[in-house]
Amino acid sequence: MIIYQKIYEAETHQNITIIRDDLYPFLGGGNKGRKIDSIGKEILTEAYNAVVTTGGIQSNHCRATAVFCAQYKLQCTLVLHGDKDKFLKESGNAKIMRMSGANIIFVDQPKDIGPTMDQAICQYEDIGLKSYYLWGGGHNLQGGKAYIDAVTQLDQQLEIDYLFVACGTGSTQAGIMAGLSKKNMPCKVIGISVARNQKSAQEHVSNFYNQLCEIFSIQRQHETIVLDDYLCGGYEQYNDELKKLSANSICDYGFALDTTYSGKAFLGMQQYVLKHNLQGNILFWHTGGIFNFLA
Ligand SMILES: *Cc1c(COP(=O)(O)O)cnc(C)c1O
Repeated sequence: MIIYQKIYEAETHQNITIIRDDLYPFLGGGNKGRKIDSIGKEILTEAYNAVVTTGGIQSNHCRATAVFCAQYKLQCTLVLHGDKDKFLKESGNAKIMRMSGANIIFVDQPKDIGPTMDQAICQYEDIGLKSYYLWGGGHNLQGGKAYIDAVTQLDQQLEIDYLFVACGTGSTQAGIMAGLSKKNMPCKVIGISVARNQKSAQEHVSNFYNQLCEIFSIQRQHETIVLDDYLCGGYEQYNDELKKLSANSICDYGFALDTTYSGKAFLGMQQYVLKHNLQGNILFWHTGGIFNFLA
């Protein structure tokens, strides 16, 4: 399902098409809802009965995974990093994770994530369960395929010259690029990095795009562009400008832009459009983050 909205940007006098994946029909919506629906097909058809994954205390991905597992009665272990007291108090994704019945393990150090996930997998195997190891962010082939499939559903009449999207693990951007290549739509895809520097982000996206194209027999035709000019200091960091954009998003556009993902990408788009005086049809793929916004 693809939901469109047109907005008018007063500053640049442009009409911008928004894809409202924040409204994707899954609790909390967003790209992690879309990814888990695709990943979930594999989990169900291959008869896994436990899932182990990881993320922060307000992870959209862990929330989506926890909800999916609860709905389909699968065992779920979430290896979380961050402040446990905050996790127990906060609303948003943390609240949904708490309510999902998932088994939640906290680790202090990033280096403990892998071993703790491995241990959880072993414990499930020991009691005879088939367990699915899910990378943080839902970053796997099925997660990327979710976006190839989404692009396939785009309106045939839609004209796009520039497409902007937030870039974290890069599977959303790579999936969109592969989908556009498959449909032979040569628009420029511009990822706005929310954490990685340009070199590392472009490498990740480009490698994953190549992998998707190879596996799904798609002719590569898109250049990988990820900008790191709007990091605001790094993952989950923001400045006054971004805070203001996020706070005004309801009144200005009628949707919520969080400060970790969609707001960063939107700010990046606005500034890039101004800086390069972009003309043509611009599309912003809103990847969600409503529960981060509400936390
Ligand atoms: C995870 C996330 C992203 C980044 O998606 P990737 O596929 O990891 O690049 C963007 N927006 C929101 C709201 C997210 O939760």
